Order: sequence, then C-alpha cells, then structure tokens
Amino acid sequence: MTTTCENVNAATPRVVVADKAGACFGVERALKLALETGRAAEGPVHTLGPLIHNPVVVRELESSGVTVVASTDEVGEGATLLLRTHGVTPAVEEAARAAGATVLDATCPFVKKCHRAAERLVAEGYQLIIVGEDGHPEVEGTLGHAPGALVIGTPKEAAAAELKRKVGIVVQTTQAEDNLRAIVSALLGRCEELRVIDTICEATHERQDAASALAGQADVMVVIGGRNSANTRHLAEICAEHCARTHHIETADELEPAWFAGAALIGVTAGASTPQAHIDSVVAAIERLDAASGAATPAEAEA
Ligand code: SF4
Repeated sequence: MTTTCENVNAATPRVVVADKAGACFGVERALKLALETGRAAEGPVHTLGPLIHNPVVVRELESSGVTVVASTDEVGEGATLLLRTHGVTPAVEEAARAAGATVLDATCPFVKKCHRAAERLVAEGYQLIIVGEDGHPEVEGTLGHAPGALVIGTPKEAAAAELKRKVGIVVQTTQAEDNLRAIVSALLGRCEELRVIDTICEATHERQDAASALAGQADVMVVIGGRNSANTRHLAEICAEHCARTHHIETADELEPAWFAGAALIGVTAGASTPQAHIDSVVAAIERLDAASGAATPAEAEA
C-alpha cells in the first residue's frame, strides 16, 4: 500500500513513504494464522523461533498467547506449533510431529519454491550454491533440503570457492539483487555450466527498487524493521548508498529530532516484516518532530 503524507506548511519537510514498503504477503499470511490460532487453540501455541524477524511484532504475539520456543524439545503433547515464514528443515518438521504437537505450516510459499528449486538442481547433478547469509534460519531450512550445499554470502567468498563442472544457484529470498549479480560474475567462466534460479521474491525486489528510488531524492531516509531482519538490513544498505543520512530503527521511540534538521524531503521505508501500523506510527512521530528538527542545520545534525 502506498502512503504519502504531505505537510501543508511549506516550511516543514514532506514525509514520503516508499511506494512498496512494509509487510509482505508471506508475513501478513503468517501473522493472520498466528493470531487466529492464538485465539482459537485450547492448548499452548508456540512458534519455533520468532515467527518473523521483528521483535516488536513478536512481543505483540506473546501478549496474544503465542510464545516462542527455541527447539522442538520444548513442545509438549497437545500444543500447537507454527512453523515460521523462513521455513525449517524436513528433520525439524518431523521432530515437531513426533513430539505430539499439531504442526501448522506458515512457511512462505516463495521460500518453499526455493526449497523445491534446490532439490531439483541437486537431483539434476549440479553442485548447489545457496547465495545467502550463513546461519540465517531461511538458509538453514534450505540446506536441510539440499544437504552439502555451499553457502556463499559475498563475491569474495565466491571467488575463493572450489567449483565442480556443473554449478547451480538458488538465492535466499531476501538477498539484495546487486549482491547476487556480483557473486554470479565472480563464478562466471570458472565452471562448464552455471545455472541460476533467481529465488529472490517479488516483494523483496519491489521494496528494494522503491527504496532506492526514494533514497535518491530524499535528504533523510528512515528504514523501519527488526535489526535481526536480513531484508530490512539490506534495505538500509541500499538506502545508505543513495542517501548518507539513512537511519535504521525498530520503533518510533528511537527517532532523534537532529536527524531531520534542514531536510526538505524525508523518505520512509520498511522491511517486509514490518506491519503497516508501525509505519504509520513512525510517520506520525516524524511529523511531530518537524519543529524541533528545523532548529538546527544539517551540519549540526550530523556532528
Ligand atoms: S519477503 Fe518474500 S519470501 Fe519472505 S515472507 Fe515475504 S513474501 Fe515471503
């Protein structure tokens, strides 16, 4: 949804929200399932790890009775366990069912598409590379579907990788496109066949393009979302390339008036795990801070 908030007073900055920002299809679907289950279930309701990478939302879910467990060992008979958007390995899913829990799968369909692509490439004899962050839950889940795959996060790692004749690539859904391009070009020409299945999801593409376009015009960019959210961190990196005054926050409480000094256009974007209500509260808070930020020059604000 596009939200554009323009102040009528020409002396105050315009606050513009990127055309595509905030909660994606997969996150909205998972949150709806979690809230409905929390209300309806008789036994305890858990998520295996945080449902999404947004600590504010995780606290909100806890107050609705949906709590986080770290492992299937903590899940007892009669409980309901929600598998989160990032997906899990087949072994984890089996362990949850073996523990006697009702398993509800909130894995995003785009993550599942990546799992299927990884399985297919391995079955067709490709050496599999997952472009993504080593240790990220989504990457761990994909590794469970393609044991032995190589995880590569940077062009430098790609340049150092030992390659076989046929190499296949799948990508963590929230990776930055530029990183994928740089990694592919570091691998090109070093194997006989290089097959890339671009599994970066559409929501990620759209949010990155919209953030980049807005950051190119904005004096200040505010990026909202969990610091543990890969897609939000990538958005912040993209914005910082175009707008030096980029700030990544989780909640409106972190805003500082000095950030906005002398700014004519303040851009706002948010990671795919940030609900619209959080974006609205940050926009409202920035507008309340306008007067204070106008008191200093941009140089003073950055000092
Ligand atoms: S960012 Fe994409 S892959 Fe991840 S939950 Fe959202 S729609 Fe699904």
